[in-house]
Amino acid sequence: MKEDVKGLYTLILEKKELFSDLARSIWENPELAYQEFFACKKQFEVLEKLQFALPVNPYCGLETAYRAEFTNGEGGPTVGICSEYDALPGLGHGCGHNLICTAALAAFYALREVMKKENIAGKVVLFGTPAEESYGGKVKMLEKNCLDDVDMVIMTHPSARCIQDAGSTAITRYDVTFHGKAAHAAGSPELGINALDAVMLLFNAVNSFRQQMPDCCRVHGIVMDGGDAPNIIPEKASCRFFLRSLEQKWMRKLDERFLNMVRGAELMTDAKAEVKLFNIPYKGRLPNKVMNESFYEYASLLDMEPLRPSVPGKGSSDFGDFSRQKPGVHFYFAATTSPAAGHSAEMREACNTPFALDQALRASAVMAQICLQFLTDAGYRQAVRKDYESASVKDS
Ligand SMILES: [Zn+2]
Ligand SMILES: [Zn+2]
Repeated sequence: MKEDVKGLYTLILEKKELFSDLARSIWENPELAYQEFFACKKQFEVLEKLQFALPVNPYCGLETAYRAEFTNGEGGPTVGICSEYDALPGLGHGCGHNLICTAALAAFYALREVMKKENIAGKVVLFGTPAEESYGGKVKMLEKNCLDDVDMVIMTHPSARCIQDAGSTAITRYDVTFHGKAAHAAGSPELGINALDAVMLLFNAVNSFRQQMPDCCRVHGIVMDGGDAPNIIPEKASCRFFLRSLEQKWMRKLDERFLNMVRGAELMTDAKAEVKLFNIPYKGRLPNKVMNESFYEYASLLDMEPLRPSVPGKGSSDFGDFSRQKPGVHFYFAATTSPAAGHSAEMREACNTPFALDQALRASAVMAQICLQFLTDAGYRQAVRKDYESASVKDS
């Protein structure tokens, strides 16, 4: 493999105008989960300008999912690159997914150019994955076996720091509604069943359990509905909880324990619980150590000043499910040099700056270089696979 990461970055810069227009226009037109029609159209336009065949869309039964691919030569491995492009309610591109799709397309383009020039055999698949922030487009796509013919998956995400993939937590989200019986709170309270008491007992149970939770877990809830008036025993009260864990084993324990607590609140109050999943559960991410180290090496060569994480990542992403299916890595590039939080107005503004775009394009060169190494080096593929298998066994 003659191409190096600096050469890939230079190659990508030749199309900088196209990529910067893509990043800016999607940032200016934020779309929520499964409504990303403009973002798809813009990405397809760019792919067409770069002389790619039109993607398969809709894909896996999702209107705003797509699959684009190209093959070079005979045989060879298949690598997958993930594009994300959904925005946040009320916050626009506060998670910077406008830069994720831009970096994904840039890497896709660079790979084709180099594979053609250097006669590298293999296939590259670009996955358009909608609704990451809420409804788990990738989980839905996996139900249709989208990764069956792929040997590894990769993506990059903006952050306040350029940092390796630190993993992410599995998440289950519950909506719990308790149904009781209304009664005059002063005149005939003995006729009522207090649904709000059930909600409060559930919160207390979760808070008591918190002391015995390991650090890999996080649980947080809000009250959605606490009744109508103090002089009416609340007939209905509801709450929403997010349960997270870095370990699948603890995710299962959290789920079980939480549902038992709901049962307990029922028994203590006579209110009846209605439990629904809010959005699809995501699995925790398994960062591939071998590809994570390659990221560190190549990002250093491009002066991105990468860091190694000191603690595991506590957020959640549907790439977790992808990384459980096939070896995967999800590293971060810096969209800003200030300490902006993810999902904030500061991060949104940062994700539309020339600095952020440049870092996204550097990250795309890093992705392309990792893919090239995977495509051309059997020993590397073996090492990637081995790490994936041992991590999967350790956390199943
Ligand atoms: Zn986000
Ligand atoms: Zn995100």
